Amino acid sequence: MTGPKLYVAGNWKMNGLQADLKEIEAVKAGVTPSGPDVAIFPPATLLHQAASLAKGSPVEIGAQDCHAQAKGAFTGDLSASILKDAGATAVIVGHSERRSGHGETSRDVHAKASAALKAGLKAVICIGETKGERLAGLAPDVCARQVAASLPAESTPDTVIVAYEPVWAIGTGLSPTIPDITAIHEVVRSELKKHFPGSAGQHWRVLYGGSVTAANAASIFESNEVDGVLVGGASLSAPSFLAIIAAAKAASERRASVK
Ligand code: PEP
Repeated sequence: MTGPKLYVAGNWKMNGLQADLKEIEAVKAGVTPSGPDVAIFPPATLLHQAASLAKGSPVEIGAQDCHAQAKGAFTGDLSASILKDAGATAVIVGHSERRSGHGETSRDVHAKASAALKAGLKAVICIGETKGERLAGLAPDVCARQVAASLPAESTPDTVIVAYEPVWAIGTGLSPTIPDITAIHEVVRSELKKHFPGSAGQHWRVLYGGSVTAANAASIFESNEVDGVLVGGASLSAPSFLAIIAAAKAASERRASVK
């Protein structure tokens, strides 16, 4: 089955001032339509300018979270339609920093993803086990449960991307072995197949995230199960993010040549 393009996403988290918009300009200048799909998720304050800068390029701009309700008395929160209005075309939901730091459950993530899809945004839904769960051998079960509980019924391979991000690998410099990444991606894919039988024959994009850098991206793409990466720290500077994009492009070319 020929899949969609690889997806290389940069999550800026709570980083990014006006001066950092130049990184988006540099990424835009360094990508080509023949390369992977590229997305940058800056803080909400930069969305509008980032989207204007990226216009007409293969770089999509997304937000890092959204509220589950379409509008209302939720001081400080942002709805999916507000984010879309600001220029976002995608939104990350269920990042482990939201699940752990803000007590978000898979049920909350499900509601947010549903709101995103209703507003016409693509949802990048994060799942992943903690260190304790990995050590206890629970990673496959935890990830399968999170997929089942976090994806709304209206999800499709065109509108939802799943990002497998082991919590213990985020921002730590640690990462699972390639066979371990492959094994969880296979679990995710079989859950997707089970819950979305209507999408048989279509390819869901399953990303890996957790301490991806310019130095290890090529080896992560050695797993043909990896349809892209969600990158935190290494996405903040254009040269390192572009090096990861180049690794994705090389991986696509290698995969195409062995088909
Ligand atoms: C992330 O924020 O999703 C992430 C994977 O961070 P890092 O690449 O810094 O580990």
